[in-house]
Amino acid sequence: MSQLSPALKQATPVIAARAEGVHVYDEDGRAHLDFTAGIGVTSTGHCHPRVVEAAQRQVATLIHGQYTTVLHRPLLSLTERLGEVLPEGLDSLFFVNSGSEAVEAAMRLARQATARPNIVVFQGSFHGRTIGAASLTTSATKFRSGFGPLMPGVAIAPFPNAFHYGWDEATATEFALRELDQLLATVTAPADTAAFIVEPVLGEGGYVPANTAFLRGLRERAGRHGILLIVDEVQTGFGRTGRFWGHDHFDGRPDIVVTAKGLASGFPLSAIAAPTELMAKAWPGSQGGTYGGNAVACAAAIATLEVIQDEKLVENAAERGAELLSGLRAVASRYTPDATRGIGDVRGLGLMAGTEFVTADGRPDGETAAQVQAAAGLRGLLLLTCGAQGQVVRMIPPLVVTAEQVRQGLGLWSGAV
Ligand code: PLP
Repeated sequence: MSQLSPALKQATPVIAARAEGVHVYDEDGRAHLDFTAGIGVTSTGHCHPRVVEAAQRQVATLIHGQYTTVLHRPLLSLTERLGEVLPEGLDSLFFVNSGSEAVEAAMRLARQATARPNIVVFQGSFHGRTIGAASLTTSATKFRSGFGPLMPGVAIAPFPNAFHYGWDEATATEFALRELDQLLATVTAPADTAAFIVEPVLGEGGYVPANTAFLRGLRERAGRHGILLIVDEVQTGFGRTGRFWGHDHFDGRPDIVVTAKGLASGFPLSAIAAPTELMAKAWPGSQGGTYGGNAVACAAAIATLEVIQDEKLVENAAERGAELLSGLRAVASRYTPDATRGIGDVRGLGLMAGTEFVTADGRPDGETAAQVQAAAGLRGLLLLTCGAQGQVVRMIPPLVVTAEQVRQGLGLWSGAV
């Protein structure tokens, strides 16, 4: 008898039979409050009726039209619609299926456009699991060990992770930018550096928001040296952080934006966006994929954008996110650290919120985070962990979450910690 790979590690033993809004229902009909949204994917809530309707209509009309052979209306309409929400000047789009593939596409484009080999990433980064994207990933050794050699030409600079360094944000940012300058002086000369790739909020790396001084610093250095600034919005895009794009908080105008996850409410779809003159530097045929820009996924994405706009989900993410963060801080302040463990930090942006567990001597405590995640799962609250040791329990509910559901989630959380 065949079985799923043992390498597939499941946090909560739930077999989902169906899902609606912020709830997943298991095969016994029990409701689970889903504060994972399929890792930040089902932003419009599970099975939003408008997304379902759009996808059903498209399935019966045209499922697959490969873009090197034929174009189709959902792809063209989505391209147009995304133009309304993308940063100014990023008027050319290319579609693939997953975040990793889009990161690959951005990296390929940056190297082709600049004819430079190297990429700078920031400590704690997660950009995916293909060998190329894993080479850009530094958030945990499990994502990059045991299958090397990884891609050469990747230089790692610090991210202004104030909690990790035990400094205030300004000091951490000054340090990160100074080290970046040092890296450009000694490890990867600007003339060899194609791109910086950065997440507006470190995702898998532990839910650490960047800041304005840091992104401005990257933008300024990128401009000065002809280096491209790639902003990976795979987890932070489409309203997740309480603004449409994560980088909207921080003033770091990108040259290339990478998107996926929240784009199509659960259908596999991802995209890169760049100015046309930059995108034109990708050699014809060097980008693409059999399933990229699938018609059903594009139809679902158009409906997703409409729902985000009509239901004011960006605003909801900001408001509910603030409630969630202050609720988590209140729980943390009541949490009694014992001789072995405590809560070190609570942080986040919009509906990306993380609680970091530490041992009594301040080291990352993945064991306690896993126990709390499991305890929450037993109470009916689905959660994820992140961080180098899995020490951060993160909440990333669908953007349709209500104030009452946030309160309910916090109640379950407070019983679990
Ligand atoms: N980039 C970021 C910031 C991510 O969070 C992820 C996935 O979590 C990826 C890229 C990779 O996306 P995918 O898992 O769809 O390949």
